[in-house]
This record gives sequence, C-alpha cells and structure tokens, in this order.
Amino acid sequence: MDNSNVQSLSGRSKVVSDKKLSFVERLYLPAIFKGMVITLKHLLKRKATIRYPETKREFSDIYRGRHVLKRDDQGRERCTACGLCAVACPAEAITMVAAERKAGEEHLYREEKYAEKYEINMLRCIFCGLCEEACPKESIFLTTEIVKSDFLRDRFIYGKDMLVEPIDKPIDISKRQTPAVLAFKKEKNRKHND
Ligand code: SF4
Ligand code: SF4
Repeated sequence: MDNSNVQSLSGRSKVVSDKKLSFVERLYLPAIFKGMVITLKHLLKRKATIRYPETKREFSDIYRGRHVLKRDDQGRERCTACGLCAVACPAEAITMVAAERKAGEEHLYREEKYAEKYEINMLRCIFCGLCEEACPKESIFLTTEIVKSDFLRDRFIYGKDMLVEPIDKPIDISKRQTPAVLAFKKEKNRKHND
C-alpha cells in the first residue's frame, strides 16, 4: 500500500530515510560505540531508582496517603456523618451509617449526629483528597502514611478502628492546611472550627 499521502494526526510524523548503508555502517561498530557511550554516561549519572525497602523516599508534607478521622481538642470525634465526603468522592470509596448521639455520650461525639460506621475502601480510593476538601467539620484528612499492602481484599476496607485517630496519639495535620484555611479557623463566628 502506498502511504506517501497519509497525514499524521499528531503532526509528529518523521520521514524515515531509506538510503543504503555504507560499509562502515554495515559493520555496526559506530552504532555499538555510540550505544556504549550512552550507557557509560548513565553509569556516571545519579540513579533514578532507589533500593527500596532499605532506602525510602522522603514524602512531601502534603503527600496524599491514608486517611485519618480527627478528634477535637477534647478527644471527641469530629465527624457528624453528613455524608459530604462520600458525595464528593469520585471513586465511591466512602460509606457510612449515621446514628444519633445519646445522653451521656457528649464526651465521645462532638455533634448530635455521628458516624456509627464509617468505611473507606482503599482499593477504590485514588487519593485525590476531595473528601478532605468537602468536609465541613475538619474531620477527615489524608496523611503521609501509605496504605500497607496485603493479600486479602477485605483488609483494604478501613473502618473506624483504622481511621479514627488514637486518643493518646494525635496526628498532626497542620501542614496540610493552607494559610487561608488557618485564618478561616480563627474566625470566632465559625463555630464548627473552634
Ligand atoms: S481521597 Fe478521593 S478517592 Fe479517596 S476517599 Fe477521598 S475523595 Fe474518595
Ligand atoms: S468526614 Fe466530614 S464530610 Fe465526611 S461525613 Fe464526617 S463530617 Fe461529613
């Protein structure tokens, strides 16, 4: 088939020369030498790979790893099961069951409604951070911790036992917040942010 009139859609076509190889070119020695020079150049360059797991890469402070459900400064769960994170999630990775706070549970849950069950499917999650942005209660944040590998799919469904921050080990998320968010939090009329 004659392709001489076929136009490239990308506009990046290259005309390939079909000239006959000279005697030296047919020996392939210059090409081999050129290849060796490129290989040697790469030997002297800084390696692009690392010896994981002995060596680990440094993550950015705002690396989007696994989530945490934050508590407030009194140790109460901040999440009010409003579902905005689930609605914002493009991967439909978040599910929850809401419950009403009973009398005497004020020290456990900050709001009158809380998430009795809250799950994130880490196999679905694409770590986009939209849940973090959608949350009006500053409850859900991504962290710099990676999701551990496993052989069983079930273990990638993280429930509240995996997500709610330990009461005695608060997780610092201050670096994830922009100066604008920090200023917003200082506004006293924004009750949910105090
Ligand atoms: S990070 Fe993105 S994909 Fe993952 S749970 Fe949040 S919104 Fe969904
Ligand atoms: S984590 Fe935030 S957005 Fe999601 S249900 Fe709880 S309060 Fe609402």
